[in-house]
Amino acid sequence: MPELFIDGRWRDAQDGATREIRCPADGSHVATVSEAGPADAAPAVEAARRAFDDGRWSAVPAQERAALLLRVADLLERDKAAYARAESLDTGKRLVESEYDMDDVIGVFRHYATLAGAEAGRIVDTGRPDVVSRVVHEPVGVCVLISPWNYPLLQTSWKVAPALAAGNTFVLKPSELSPSTSVLLVRTLAEAGLPDGVANLLLGAGAGVGAALVEHPDVDLVSFTGGLATGRRIMAAAAATVKKVALELGGKNPNIVFADADREAALDNALTAVFLHSGQVCSAGARLVVEASIAEDFVAELVRRARLIRLGGPFDEHAETGPLISAAHRDKVEAYVAAGLAEGAELLCGGARPDDPALANGFYYLPTVLGGCRRGMSVVHDESFGPVLTVETFEGADDTELETAAVEIANDSIYGLAGAVWTRDGGRAERVANRLRMGTVWINDFHPYVPQAEWGGYKQSGTGRELGLAGLDEYRETKHVWHNIAPAPAAWFASSTETEDTPA
Ligand code: NAD
Repeated sequence: MPELFIDGRWRDAQDGATREIRCPADGSHVATVSEAGPADAAPAVEAARRAFDDGRWSAVPAQERAALLLRVADLLERDKAAYARAESLDTGKRLVESEYDMDDVIGVFRHYATLAGAEAGRIVDTGRPDVVSRVVHEPVGVCVLISPWNYPLLQTSWKVAPALAAGNTFVLKPSELSPSTSVLLVRTLAEAGLPDGVANLLLGAGAGVGAALVEHPDVDLVSFTGGLATGRRIMAAAAATVKKVALELGGKNPNIVFADADREAALDNALTAVFLHSGQVCSAGARLVVEASIAEDFVAELVRRARLIRLGGPFDEHAETGPLISAAHRDKVEAYVAAGLAEGAELLCGGARPDDPALANGFYYLPTVLGGCRRGMSVVHDESFGPVLTVETFEGADDTELETAAVEIANDSIYGLAGAVWTRDGGRAERVANRLRMGTVWINDFHPYVPQAEWGGYKQSGTGRELGLAGLDEYRETKHVWHNIAPAPAAWFASSTETEDTPA
């Protein structure tokens, strides 16, 4: 079956190109899917444009849009097992994690159903009886939604749900490495009754069809989640027609542990922070910033536990984490570790592929801890997006010095996505959290988020709030309507109302 969806019809790519999807856990064949090229971008954007302009979705009452999103959530619930399986096969992610992600995805659609149904404009009191003045929200128009492979459906739903809730039409382009759940989602949207042309789907490579979508002049908004280098390219390309751009980019997130932290909780969470999904998480706590007085003991225990982490495929019930997404990505992670070692880091564990023959066909990499790291090393500075933890230490003669030292190390990054601080001292926790230049700060926790809260990066982690997670405002234009109900000459230019009889 063809996998491109344009104007309510499934199609093949114009040039007939396809891509083979293989499971990163064992190289097994998952699917052969249509691969759109640049020439497929225009028909999809034009379909979305027509669907937007004729109001088949934008003019639908908000309550009906909300009802459709709730139907989508119910269908996702019904089909949860099939979705989770497809996600795991594409990404190699453990099934239990994909199932967990599905609960988040369903929650996102329900959240936006609530927002879609709740909001209205407002009347502005001008103090003038001859004028009715109102502020209204309207959809932006045609959105291009580009998502990554690490949480394929969740990242996609953060974009699709608010775009639909606000009344937009869209062209979705998921990562070429993990397209399966986007295909399922578009089927679900159609089953829920979304009109043809509102949701369009192009599978394919970023540099080809992705770039063509971003450049298309009829696109009003580009919402992108992915790597920093791609984000920079997209922002530059969107400038040509001043598209609205939302970028959710990478992170190099510090996990600060003070000596007075709850040791057991901090240790356990430090492992999850960086090794969950083999570190392929934008908010991964890949930099351990630990107080020098406890560093030796803390890191030794962390390394002991990291060595015990069991690797395995999506359906291995004993596996605790899985493979990397591709051979190329594993090469990149290996290069960062090699660079770190060349720059003086000490290999405390991992740093190699597992020797278990059962894992030989997958892109596995052992949980790795590098001691003796310093700011300035590329493995500390750049996002490796793998199971690699760097260790830096801090100290200070008094509380102020200690906290300042931790904050300086943590903030020394071009990224500003997320970070955590572990301490039993509530005042210290708040002081440090206030000084961290990051979009999310956890105190004595790591990784949780709620759709109702905002998610987004400071600095080069993005353009601000994740469009999908916060309110609907990023997917809407705001318009002030001034209705003069007693039209009269402005009487500004006396000459315009002068008649021949008017004395000069
Ligand atoms: P990527 O930048 O390589 O690709 C992301 C998407 O962009 C893919 O769909 C890809 O095909 C497309 N793309 C690539 N080049 C393009 C171009 N020139 N024009 C248009 N589209 C293009 O990222 P990835 O490797 O898929 O994902 C991992 C990255 O995503 C990491 O950096 C991670 O931190 C980031 N991420 C961030 C968040 C967040 O919330 N901030 C969440 C998840 C992932």
